[in-house]
Amino acid sequence: MFNKIRCPYCREKVYKDATVCPYCNHDLAKNPIDETDNRLPCHPLLIAGALGLVAGGITALVWAILKERRHWEDDFMIE
Ligand SMILES: [Zn+2]
Repeated sequence: MFNKIRCPYCREKVYKDATVCPYCNHDLAKNPIDETDNRLPCHPLLIAGALGLVAGGITALVWAILKERRHWEDDFMIE
């Protein structure tokens, strides 16, 4: 069970350090499918966009909290 991975070509379980799949004879070490790199494209513009989105969200949240706090203070002043 341990040290086994799925062959990206035939989905059979093969040993992690196997260079050639014993089922479909594909070369595993030479041409590995880099799924992590394909799944997360680390483009600088993408990162900048994500950071901007997070910064905007935090700003909106802080603004909402401050607005709500002022509301509480107004209620307190009335009493
Ligand atoms: Zn295979």
